[in-house]
Amino acid sequence: MEKPKFQSLARHLKRKLPLGVPISIRLRRVPRRRIGDCTSDGTTFLIRVDPSLGTDEACGTLLHEVAHALSWGLDGPDEDHGEFFRHAERTVWSWYLAWLRGE
Ligand SMILES: [Zn+2]
Repeated sequence: MEKPKFQSLARHLKRKLPLGVPISIRLRRVPRRRIGDCTSDGTTFLIRVDPSLGTDEACGTLLHEVAHALSWGLDGPDEDHGEFFRHAERTVWSWYLAWLRGE
């Protein structure tokens, strides 16, 4: 994995998220053979992404988990991949495209 690229995207997404959705992003192994997850301790969302992934897969996993933080952080319904999540995912992908363009 190209860590600088992953970390650049992580910083970009943190800047884009609303202040009410604080996140902490870690490259860490995730239990139960998952490649990433998003949990909350009540104040901050913790996103973990498996460091053994390739760059593109790691970035894709990060986008997915940030979309969870965004949907739950904005008091979305307590569902995993419903309509509210898909709306959040489109928002996060628009931020990703801005990052690809260097904005
Ligand atoms: Zn998910």
